Amino acid sequence: MTMIKMSDLNLSNKKVLIRQDLNVPIKNGEVSSDLRIRAALETVTLALTGGAGIILLSHLGRPVEGQLDSTFSLEPVARHMATLLGREVRFERDWIDGVDVQPGEVILCENVRFQIGEKANDDRLSRKMAALCDVFVMDAFGTAHRAQASTHGVAKYAPIACAGALLVTELEALGAAFENPTRPMVAIVGGSKVSTKLTLLKNLINKVDYLIVGGGIANTFLAANDHPTGNSLVEKDLIPEAKALQLIAKEQHTVIPMPEDVVCGTAFSVDSPAAVKSVDDVSSEDMILDLGPGFCMQLDRIMKDAGTIVWNGPLGVFEFDQFASGTQSLADAIAASNAFSIAGGGDTIAAVEKFNIADNLSYISTGGGAFLEFMEGKTLPAVAILEERGSD
Ligand code: AMP
Repeated sequence: MTMIKMSDLNLSNKKVLIRQDLNVPIKNGEVSSDLRIRAALETVTLALTGGAGIILLSHLGRPVEGQLDSTFSLEPVARHMATLLGREVRFERDWIDGVDVQPGEVILCENVRFQIGEKANDDRLSRKMAALCDVFVMDAFGTAHRAQASTHGVAKYAPIACAGALLVTELEALGAAFENPTRPMVAIVGGSKVSTKLTLLKNLINKVDYLIVGGGIANTFLAANDHPTGNSLVEKDLIPEAKALQLIAKEQHTVIPMPEDVVCGTAFSVDSPAAVKSVDDVSSEDMILDLGPGFCMQLDRIMKDAGTIVWNGPLGVFEFDQFASGTQSLADAIAASNAFSIAGGGDTIAAVEKFNIADNLSYISTGGGAFLEFMEGKTLPAVAILEERGSD
């Protein structure tokens, strides 16, 4: 990494502008889950200890640019952060033309996505943001895959642009998993559709020793292997892609384990009864909504011997308890493994929380889209610009 880290800089009496990902759920004007705010605190505390005056930027939701809409206001986040930090967090509605900040102060600016030009990475807006500070700190890993004014443009024009503590931790954890993994390396790609994860599957197949497919993705692979899939979610047009992936895997000695048993329902519903069936006994009325206990025992062995595990996507419809066993069993096997383990993505984090294994994982990524794009082998624009600026 050629990028400058915030921890390398002297921040005393500097105006420090930090782009964070404070995009948290708000219910009745209060923050209802503060995981992202907590993850952002380390960088704020480090900058405060360093003697900086701090201006925080973030987005929240997807408002229409140029239209103030209180539903998307960051004001509740400022209140919540003040409680967590135990000090005032001043909320600034009008900030783009300049913010007065003194060392030891923390200011949170209103949603960057109210600014016209944010999404288009507008140069004029980027320069205005850069003019707010002496040092720009990118710390929002969750939006590092987007080239926008507050994640990318501002880093071009700020006097100094560097990476915050959270961004550095994310990149180091992902680097440890992908750049020099302890083998065997196992990736689990679950969820609903092959189509949304095809690039991911294609990239991972060249890197891992075991590629475990789950959820609706496994259904399409089962269909590609001529097993009956009844009414299951299957992307028929992607069966040739699934076959091609299996061929590549064979050539490269990458194992894609196929389930011998599955859990079926007759409707995608919370009260549909569940039945464990052999893959060849799935009837025309069945929907495959989870992977079976026999397959999970296979996974137990793979997780036990793994050196590195990367997990994105559930094995089944874990939101319904009768179809949650596959994902729970996988979660327990990852938790029990000595492998370096990383999980990321909205549904995966929900499963990690539901099955209470957060403390047993090596790292949980705060990025959904950014985590996926990193795993797809793509360059994250907000990281690339920091690397450019680091070698100025
Ligand atoms: P994704 O957004 O692609 O990561 O997909 C996550 C969603 O996939 C979850 O909400 C699961 O309920 C759903 N899912 C998992 N397994 C299946 C399955 N066998 N059939 C249909 N949906 C599934």
